[in-house]
Amino acid sequence: MEGSAIRLRDLRKSFGETTAVAGIDLDISDGEFFSMLGPSGSGKTTVLRMIAGFESPTSGEIELAGQEVTGLAPFERDVHTVFQDYALFPHMTVEQNVAYGLKVRKVPKPERLVRARKALADVRLEGFGRRRPGRLSGGQRQRVALARALVGRPRVLLLDEPLGALDLKLREQMQVELKAIQREVGITFVFVTHDQEEALTMSDRIAVFNQGRIEQVGTPAEIYERPATPFVAGFVGTSNLLEGQSARQVVGAPGTYSIRPEKIRVLKESAEADEPEHSTATGTVAEVVYLGDATRFLVDLDAGGRLTALQQNLETSSEDVAAYRGTRVRLQWHRRHTFKVPDPR
Ligand code: ATP
Repeated sequence: MEGSAIRLRDLRKSFGETTAVAGIDLDISDGEFFSMLGPSGSGKTTVLRMIAGFESPTSGEIELAGQEVTGLAPFERDVHTVFQDYALFPHMTVEQNVAYGLKVRKVPKPERLVRARKALADVRLEGFGRRRPGRLSGGQRQRVALARALVGRPRVLLLDEPLGALDLKLREQMQVELKAIQREVGITFVFVTHDQEEALTMSDRIAVFNQGRIEQVGTPAEIYERPATPFVAGFVGTSNLLEGQSARQVVGAPGTYSIRPEKIRVLKESAEADEPEHSTATGTVAEVVYLGDATRFLVDLDAGGRLTALQQNLETSSEDVAAYRGTRVRLQWHRRHTFKVPDPR
């Protein structure tokens, strides 16, 4: 049966005058890869620290696996936290680092070794047990930290920007790895990040934070394709909003609408405009940016407003791109890609 791993009820936290967390309700399921996504200062870390027990809520409740834990100390909770600075012991071997928590808990040595080796295998570091952390790459150190967390078999793993210290390439590689490891071990992961791509790549579900509140909870596809608020539309991807009068002329009804840039085709102004089920708008290319695999067009619409369109560079070369600036174009997209953005609360 699918249980609830974490349940937050009207959770609040103030530091003096600052309201860090302004009332959060959330259910995270067993075995879920759940991300908390939001800009710096939006309260994600504070929520994570309250789940871990490092910070006590001003009010509200925290349940882990159906048990109220709000007043319990960190070590009394079945969770483990992985921080960005992995804090490995430099004088110990990788294996000793991983087994350390078990030693503290007085697990007998033979079992410690077996479990440490299993955890190292889980993070694909077999054969690295006798090295010292100083002789590992950033990504390998990250995986040792993860093995150290997994070895205690916590029900929930809390990860606070664990990939933040890695360079982009390694980071992208670790995103895929981390997701695969989570799927294999089946532990609930709660992952804090301010990087929308990272959240979209890895998560089963995402909560988007803004100013101590959650704006939307959903799968990556829901968050990306159906943002529930203008904030979510803007924070995840390019907001590409059509508002008021221009929306009425282009989409046909007043309100605020959004179309994701990669759904919009850039055509010659003279192109046929009568494809059924499609919306169309003419305009002038204000800016064009060559991105290697794609080109980004910023188009000022005749109806008012500006849309960004992203085109794969199938035929286009970098020389073609500059020539587009200032030219007249027709934008076209299927109507199902237009979605209404609810008004702010
Ligand atoms: P980041 O991505 O930068 O870590 P965040 O979304 O995790 O940001 P929090 O660290 O939870 O945000 O901070 C939320 C708010 O609470 C911020 O305004 C922050 O300054 C404040 N805050 C957090 N911890 C403390 C503290 N110990 N004392 C005072 N204010 C704090």
